[in-house]
Parts: sequence; structure tokens; C-alpha cells
Amino acid sequence: MLDADFFRRWMTAAHTAVDQEADRLTELDSPIGDADHGSNLRRGFAAVTAALEKEAPATPGAVLTLAGRQLISTVGGASGPLYGTLLRRTGKALGDEAEVSEADLARALRTGVEAVATLGGAAPGDKTMLDALVPAADALGESFDAARRAAAEGAEATTPLQARKGRASYLGERSIGHEDPGAASSALLISALARTAGA
Ligand code: ADP
Ligand code: MG
Ligand code: MG
Repeated sequence: MLDADFFRRWMTAAHTAVDQEADRLTELDSPIGDADHGSNLRRGFAAVTAALEKEAPATPGAVLTLAGRQLISTVGGASGPLYGTLLRRTGKALGDEAEVSEADLARALRTGVEAVATLGGAAPGDKTMLDALVPAADALGESFDAARRAAAEGAEATTPLQARKGRASYLGERSIGHEDPGAASSALLISALARTAGA
């Protein structure tokens, strides 16, 4: 079973990964965006870990809803509300149990990912974070490692796609040939989850 401490450790691992990969995320956001994705998420996850330390929420659901609120209020741009919604809605779907199962998390994450799709009006294939998140949420029903692989493959598979949502879509065909920064950061988030689970 997964408790509040597991979810805190996931958010800390996500912060570390985003910190380490911030330059790469910003580089991916240069040719098809405005070169701020790494710094946006670095600021956001620093706020997440600080808030978690201060408030020490007692349940998995409360950890993720607090994290989501922090991302919404500190990350500018498209990815703040989208990632904030992902974590808030996943947290809400987990309810107020002290411990949740892997299957509960898989179900809740699917709810969170659906909320991202509704908010952003995007679908898989549009070259966004959903290209990593949708296959990851589906594969999480199988295992943490399967989710990590699905997210990484989904992110890589955005390279040949033409963007249909977000800033990159303004470039039309010129968005082809670059990995989507949001899909890359989603793969980091899911990889941090798998690492936290020891997978
Ligand atoms: P901004 O584009 O406002 O500078 P970021 O650079 O932080 O924001 O995030 C860009 C990422 O957000 C994109 O790479 C993409 O994955 C994601 N994104 C943008 N618009 C949408 C959308 N409508 N639906 C899903 N994801 C989106
Ligand atoms: Mg950007
Ligand atoms: Mg921006």
C-alpha cells in the first residue's frame, strides 16, 4: 500500500529530476516554444516541496492536491494549470484514505489525465504532455516499470508529430522533428514515481 510519505517522496523525486533536467527541458522548449519550460517547472516543484514540508499533509490525496495547488499558483504558462490540474484531480480521486493501492493510484491517475485533456482540449497525437501521460496512466495498471517505459516511449514518439495545441502549434509543420517539452517532463514525473516505488 502507498501512504502519504510515498507521495511526498514522489514529489521530492520529481523536484530533483526537474532540477537536474531543467536545462534540457528549456532547450526542448526553444525551437518550438519560448524556452521557459525547465525554469517554469523548477520554480513550481520547489514550491511543491516547500509546501509539503511546511504543511505535512496526512493522506495521499492531500499531498497531491496541495502539490497541484502550488503548481497552479507558481508556474506561469500553459503547463502550470495543466500539471496542477493533473495532481489536484488525481489527489481528489484518491479520496481521504490514509493508504491507497497501486490499482487505486492507476485509476486516480486516469481521472487526472482525463481532466488535463478536458482543460487543454488536447488528445493523444497532438504533441503534448498527453502523449506521455495517457499511455503511462494506462500502463500503470500493469506496473510502475511499465508506466515509466510507456511515458518515455510516448515522449520520444512526439518528435515526428506536428503540434496541434499550445505554443508549438503556431509553428505548423515547423514543429515537426522536435520532442515536445511537456511530454519530456511528464516522462520525468512518471520515472520519478517508478523510482519512488523501487521499480
Ligand atoms: P508555455 O507554452 O506557456 O510557455 P510551458 O513551456 O511551461 O508553457 O509548457 C509547454 C508544454 O505544455 C507543451 O510542451 C505541452 O506539452 C503542454 N501543453 C501546452 N498546451 C497544451 C494543451 N492544450 N494540452 C495539453 N498540454 C499542453
Ligand atoms: Mg514555454
Ligand atoms: Mg511560457
